[in-house]
Amino acid sequence: MSTTSVRYMREKGQIELALQMIAYEARTHTIRGCTGLSDDRIRRLYTTYFKDTKGTPVRRQRGKSPTRCAIFMRNLETQRQSATLASLLVQFGLLPLYSAQAPLMATRGIAYGTRFCRAFSMYVAICQLPEFCFEKAWALCNALQNGEELVVHSCQQCSGLFVHDVLSLKKPVCPCCRIKGPSLS
Ligand SMILES: [Zn+2]
Repeated sequence: MSTTSVRYMREKGQIELALQMIAYEARTHTIRGCTGLSDDRIRRLYTTYFKDTKGTPVRRQRGKSPTRCAIFMRNLETQRQSATLASLLVQFGLLPLYSAQAPLMATRGIAYGTRFCRAFSMYVAICQLPEFCFEKAWALCNALQNGEELVVHSCQQCSGLFVHDVLSLKKPVCPCCRIKGPSLS
Protein backbone atom coordinates (compact mmCIF):
# COMPACT_ATOMS: atom_id res chain seq x y z
CA MET A 1 0.00 0.00 0.00
CA SER A 2 1.31 3.47 -0.84
CA THR A 3 2.07 6.04 1.86
CA THR A 4 -0.93 8.10 0.73
CA SER A 5 -3.27 5.10 1.04
CA VAL A 6 -1.90 4.27 4.51
CA ARG A 7 -2.45 7.86 5.61
CA TYR A 8 -5.96 7.87 4.09
CA MET A 9 -6.90 4.62 5.86
CA ARG A 10 -5.55 5.91 9.16
CA GLU A 11 -7.44 9.18 8.84
CA LYS A 12 -10.63 7.32 7.87
CA GLY A 13 -10.26 5.17 11.01
CA GLN A 14 -9.66 8.23 13.19
CA ILE A 15 -12.72 10.05 11.84
CA GLU A 16 -15.03 7.01 11.99
CA LEU A 17 -14.07 6.38 15.61
CA ALA A 18 -14.40 10.07 16.52
CA LEU A 19 -17.92 10.16 15.01
CA GLN A 20 -18.94 7.06 16.97
CA MET A 21 -17.56 8.55 20.18
CA ILE A 22 -19.24 11.93 19.57
CA ALA A 23 -22.55 10.09 19.02
CA TYR A 24 -22.03 8.43 22.42
CA GLU A 25 -21.40 11.90 23.90
CA ALA A 26 -17.82 11.12 24.88
CA ARG A 27 -15.71 14.03 26.12
CA THR A 28 -13.28 15.72 23.74
CA HIS A 29 -10.40 14.66 25.98
CA THR A 30 -11.42 10.97 25.68
CA ILE A 31 -11.88 11.24 21.89
CA ARG A 32 -8.51 12.95 21.49
CA GLY A 33 -6.81 10.23 23.59
CA CYS A 34 -8.01 7.46 21.27
CA THR A 35 -8.07 9.09 17.85
CA GLY A 36 -5.11 11.46 18.08
CA LEU A 37 -7.26 14.15 16.43
CA SER A 38 -6.88 17.73 17.67
CA ASP A 39 -9.59 19.39 19.78
CA ASP A 40 -10.30 21.72 16.88
CA ARG A 41 -10.79 18.83 14.44
CA ILE A 42 -13.14 17.07 16.90
CA ARG A 43 -15.11 20.29 17.36
CA ARG A 44 -15.44 20.67 13.58
CA LEU A 45 -16.62 17.04 13.19
CA TYR A 46 -19.26 17.69 15.83
CA THR A 47 -20.42 20.89 14.10
CA THR A 48 -20.49 19.25 10.66
CA TYR A 49 -22.25 16.01 11.58
CA PHE A 50 -24.24 16.58 14.76
CA LYS A 51 -25.07 20.22 15.37
CA ASP A 52 -28.32 20.38 13.41
CA THR A 53 -29.47 16.78 13.69
CA LYS A 54 -33.20 16.30 14.13
CA GLY A 55 -34.47 14.03 16.89
CA THR A 56 -32.47 13.52 20.07
CA PRO A 57 -29.65 16.08 19.99
CA VAL A 58 -26.09 14.95 20.69
CA ARG A 59 -24.63 16.97 23.54
CA ARG A 60 -20.99 17.87 23.88
CA GLN A 61 -19.62 16.85 27.24
CA ARG A 62 -17.37 19.39 28.85
CA GLY A 63 -15.38 19.40 32.07
CA LYS A 64 -13.71 16.59 33.94
CA SER A 65 -14.58 12.93 33.46
CA PRO A 66 -16.53 11.24 36.26
CA THR A 67 -14.10 9.30 38.42
CA ARG A 68 -15.95 8.64 41.70
CA CYS A 69 -16.12 4.89 42.12
CA ALA A 70 -19.10 5.06 44.49
CA ILE A 71 -21.54 5.55 41.57
CA PHE A 72 -20.85 2.00 40.38
CA MET A 73 -21.58 0.43 43.77
CA ARG A 74 -24.53 2.67 44.76
CA ASN A 75 -27.21 -0.04 44.75
CA LEU A 76 -27.84 -3.58 43.51
CA GLU A 77 -28.90 -2.37 40.04
CA THR A 78 -25.76 -0.27 39.48
CA GLN A 79 -23.69 -3.21 40.79
CA ARG A 80 -25.49 -5.60 38.41
CA GLN A 81 -24.85 -3.26 35.47
CA SER A 82 -21.20 -2.73 36.52
CA ALA A 83 -20.83 -6.53 36.47
CA THR A 84 -22.34 -6.73 32.96
CA LEU A 85 -20.04 -3.97 31.71
CA ALA A 86 -16.93 -5.43 33.38
CA SER A 87 -17.63 -8.88 31.86
CA LEU A 88 -17.94 -7.30 28.40
CA LEU A 89 -14.72 -5.31 28.91
CA VAL A 90 -12.91 -8.56 29.80
CA GLN A 91 -14.37 -10.34 26.75
CA PHE A 92 -13.30 -7.49 24.47
CA GLY A 93 -9.74 -7.68 25.85
CA LEU A 94 -9.87 -4.26 27.53
CA LEU A 95 -9.50 -5.72 31.02
CA PRO A 96 -7.53 -8.76 32.13
CA LEU A 97 -9.42 -11.70 33.68
CA TYR A 98 -7.01 -11.74 36.61
CA SER A 99 -5.62 -8.47 37.93
CA ALA A 100 -2.02 -9.71 37.71
CA GLN A 101 -2.30 -10.08 33.92
CA ALA A 102 -1.97 -7.29 31.39
CA PRO A 103 -5.07 -6.67 29.25
CA LEU A 104 -4.91 -7.69 25.58
CA MET A 105 -5.40 -4.07 24.57
CA ALA A 106 -3.00 -2.05 26.67
CA THR A 107 -2.40 0.91 24.39
CA ARG A 108 -4.98 3.63 23.90
CA GLY A 109 -5.54 4.13 20.21
CA ILE A 110 -8.01 3.50 17.41
CA ALA A 111 -8.21 -0.28 18.02
CA TYR A 112 -8.75 0.27 21.75
CA GLY A 113 -11.43 2.92 21.17
CA THR A 114 -13.21 0.81 18.55
CA ARG A 115 -13.35 -2.19 20.90
CA PHE A 116 -14.56 0.01 23.73
CA CYS A 117 -17.39 1.39 21.54
CA ARG A 118 -18.43 -2.20 20.64
CA ALA A 119 -18.41 -3.26 24.30
CA PHE A 120 -20.40 -0.15 25.26
CA SER A 121 -23.00 -0.69 22.51
CA MET A 122 -23.50 -4.29 23.74
CA TYR A 123 -23.87 -3.04 27.30
CA VAL A 124 -26.58 -0.58 26.16
CA ALA A 125 -28.34 -3.35 24.22
CA ILE A 126 -28.26 -5.78 27.18
CA CYS A 127 -29.29 -3.29 29.90
CA GLN A 128 -32.46 -1.81 28.49
CA LEU A 129 -32.25 1.11 30.92
CA PRO A 130 -28.49 1.71 31.11
CA GLU A 131 -27.37 3.44 34.31
CA PHE A 132 -24.02 4.47 32.86
CA CYS A 133 -23.29 6.85 30.01
CA PHE A 134 -20.22 6.37 27.80
CA GLU A 135 -18.00 8.50 30.05
CA LYS A 136 -19.06 6.63 33.19
CA ALA A 137 -18.37 3.32 31.45
CA TRP A 138 -14.99 4.71 30.40
CA ALA A 139 -14.31 5.75 34.02
CA LEU A 140 -15.24 2.26 35.25
CA CYS A 141 -12.80 0.69 32.78
CA ASN A 142 -10.06 3.07 33.97
CA ALA A 143 -10.83 2.38 37.65
CA LEU A 144 -10.71 -1.40 37.05
CA GLN A 145 -7.43 -1.12 35.14
CA ASN A 146 -6.04 0.97 37.99
CA GLY A 147 -7.33 -1.51 40.61
CA GLU A 148 -6.89 0.78 43.61
CA GLU A 149 -10.57 0.92 44.58
CA LEU A 150 -12.39 -1.52 42.31
CA VAL A 151 -11.37 -4.88 40.86
CA VAL A 152 -12.97 -7.54 38.66
CA HIS A 153 -13.67 -10.52 40.88
CA SER A 154 -15.04 -13.99 40.29
CA CYS A 155 -18.16 -14.74 42.40
CA GLN A 156 -17.68 -17.34 45.15
CA GLN A 157 -21.11 -18.83 44.43
CA CYS A 158 -21.59 -18.79 40.65
CA SER A 159 -18.06 -17.94 39.33
CA GLY A 160 -19.55 -15.04 37.32
CA LEU A 161 -17.50 -11.87 37.04
CA PHE A 162 -18.51 -8.79 38.99
CA VAL A 163 -17.03 -5.53 40.31
CA HIS A 164 -15.71 -5.78 43.84
CA ASP A 165 -14.80 -2.90 46.12
CA VAL A 166 -11.30 -3.72 47.47
CA LEU A 167 -12.15 -2.12 50.83
CA SER A 168 -15.41 -4.06 51.25
CA LEU A 169 -15.61 -6.57 54.09
CA LYS A 170 -18.51 -8.39 52.40
CA LYS A 171 -17.97 -11.86 50.94
CA PRO A 172 -17.01 -11.64 47.23
CA VAL A 173 -20.44 -12.59 45.92
CA CYS A 174 -21.93 -11.11 42.75
CA PRO A 175 -25.09 -8.90 42.93
CA CYS A 176 -27.25 -11.58 41.22
CA CYS A 177 -26.33 -14.19 43.86
CA ARG A 178 -26.84 -11.60 46.57
CA ILE A 179 -30.39 -10.98 45.26
CA LYS A 180 -31.04 -14.74 45.23
CA GLY A 181 -29.71 -15.15 48.79
CA PRO A 182 -27.16 -17.63 50.22
CA SER A 183 -26.49 -20.79 48.23
CA LEU A 184 -28.03 -23.97 49.70
CA SER A 185 -25.45 -26.27 48.13
ZN1 LIG B 1 -22.73 -15.06 41.68
